[in-house]
Amino acid sequence: MINPFKKWKPKGKIYSFRCSQCGDAFISSHNLDAPLCGTCIQKIKSLDSTVDNDKKCSECGNIGVIYGKDRCHSCYFNFKKDN
Ligand SMILES: [Zn+2]
Ligand SMILES: [Zn+2]
Repeated sequence: MINPFKKWKPKGKIYSFRCSQCGDAFISSHNLDAPLCGTCIQKIKSLDSTVDNDKKCSECGNIGVIYGKDRCHSCYFNFKKDN
């Protein structure tokens, strides 16, 4: 019998963070420069007012960056998938 949980290991390094918005602790496989928990990321993603559509992301080139930043949400919060 194979126990799938025994074999499971997180890929790479796991970082632990404290959300910069609500203070909740969470973990991520990315070394985030703006730690945000899933709840706050969803909140921020749903706020169009936080997006500056006159600017281009310096990393991926998409239009629409976070106000006061030069990167889009995906790049800034590392939404990119590993696989
Ligand atoms: Zn949070
Ligand atoms: Zn981007």
